[in-house]
Amino acid sequence: MNSDKLKSISEINEKIEKGDVQVFTASEIKKMSKVSVEDVDVVTTGTCGIMSGTSAIFHFKISEPGAFRKVKEIYLNGVPGFPGPCPNENLGSVDLIVYGTSKSIYDHNYGGGFLFKDIIEGKNIQIEAKTVEGRKIETEINIEDMETSKMLGTRMAFQNYSAFLNSKKGIKKTIFSVTGLRGPFKELSFSGCGELNPLQNDPEMYVINVGSKALLNGSEAIILGLGTRSSKKPNLMIMAEMKDMESYYIGGFKTGSGPEIFNTIAIPIPILNKKILNNVLIKNSKIPLPILDVNDRREIGKITYADVWNGVDKRPKYKKDKCLKCKECKIEKICPTDAFKPKEGIDFKKCFGCSVCAHHCKAIEMKTGVVEFNSAKIPVTCRQSDIKRAEKLSLELKKRIENGEFYL
Ligand code: SF4
Ligand code: SF4
Repeated sequence: MNSDKLKSISEINEKIEKGDVQVFTASEIKKMSKVSVEDVDVVTTGTCGIMSGTSAIFHFKISEPGAFRKVKEIYLNGVPGFPGPCPNENLGSVDLIVYGTSKSIYDHNYGGGFLFKDIIEGKNIQIEAKTVEGRKIETEINIEDMETSKMLGTRMAFQNYSAFLNSKKGIKKTIFSVTGLRGPFKELSFSGCGELNPLQNDPEMYVINVGSKALLNGSEAIILGLGTRSSKKPNLMIMAEMKDMESYYIGGFKTGSGPEIFNTIAIPIPILNKKILNNVLIKNSKIPLPILDVNDRREIGKITYADVWNGVDKRPKYKKDKCLKCKECKIEKICPTDAFKPKEGIDFKKCFGCSVCAHHCKAIEMKTGVVEFNSAKIPVTCRQSDIKRAEKLSLELKKRIENGEFYL
C-alpha cells in the first residue's frame, strides 16, 4: 500500500453507509478535466473478453445413496466434466470440475461457455454419467438442484493483451479469430478493453489484491490472487457463486479452433491517494497493444488501444432492406455467439460486438477501424473483447456502491 495515504478503505466504507460516497466509472473519470482525491472515492473498472482459464466446480445428486460407489465419467449436455477430487463414495452424488473451453462430444460448436450460460439461465441440463461399476446414469439437472455451483477463473482480466496478424499466405485457424486469419497481413484481430481494464487502472496492484472484492458476471466475487502465467502477463484468479450471475455477461464464443468462453468482470478501485488517482486517468493512447504473428506468437509490431477502440462502433447495424435472402445465411452460421438470424436480425442480448458479421455481408454495417502496419492499412476484423459489457458492469458496480449494496 502506498504511504502518502489521504483516505482509508474504512473511511470510504463509512461514506457508503451514509450514502455520500463519490463513485465514477472508468469511462466517466477519463472524461473529467480536473479531478482531485477529495472529489472521488471509488472508480469502477471493467473488462469483458474471451477468458480461456474459466472453470466451474459443481456438486449435485444424480441417484439415491448406495446406488453406485463413485462416478468415473460425466457429461453435461455432452460437455465432459472431471469427476472428483472428492469421490463421494456411495453417496449418489458427484463432485466435478468443468472447463469453459471443453467441447461437447455431440456438437463441436457447443462448449463449456455455452453450457455455463444455459446453467445460469436456469435451463435443464442433460446429465450422462458412467460409474466405476459400469452402470450408465441419465438424468436432468437444474442450477436450483445443485448444492454447489461456483466459477473459478484461473486466468482472468489480463492487464493487457495482444493483436494478431498472420504473416503467411492462406488462412490460419486460431482461437484468436472466428473465420481464421487471412495472410499475409490481410486482417487483424485483438483482445483487451484498454483504458477500462482493472489492472490497467491499478498496474502496480496497490489496491487490487488477494481478498479484494469484484463482480464476476454480476455475482459478488473474491480475488484469490494472481492468475496463472502472471509473470508474463499480469492477470487475476477469481471465484464467485454461479447462482448470483446474470447470463448476459457470460457465454460461449465460437472460434476457428473450437468454442471458447467470455466473461465480464468489474473491480472497484478505492482512490486513497494521488498516485492511485493518477493511475486511473490513463487513456487508450498511452496503452501499448503489441502485434504478434499468430503462427509463432513473435512480436512483430506495436500499436495502442486508441488505434482499435477510439471512434469505432460498439455494435453492428443490420440493414434488412439490403439482405439478399441467400439460400444459406453465412452470418447465421459464423456469428460466434448465435446472435444473428436474417429474419429477426441481431439479438443484442447475445451480440458481443465482435464485428465479424460486418466483414462478411454488405447488409451489416459497423465501423471497426483500420490500423497501420509496415505502411499498409489493415482492417480490424475480429474483436475478442466487448467494451459495452465492460461499461455496463462497471456502471452496475457503481450503482451497487452508491446504494450501499457493495462495500470495499
Ligand atoms: S444477412 Fe447477409 S448473408 Fe445472411 S441472408 Fe442476408 S445477405 Fe445473405
Ligand atoms: S457483431 Fe455480428 S458476428 Fe459478432 S456477435 Fe454481434 S451479430 Fe454476431
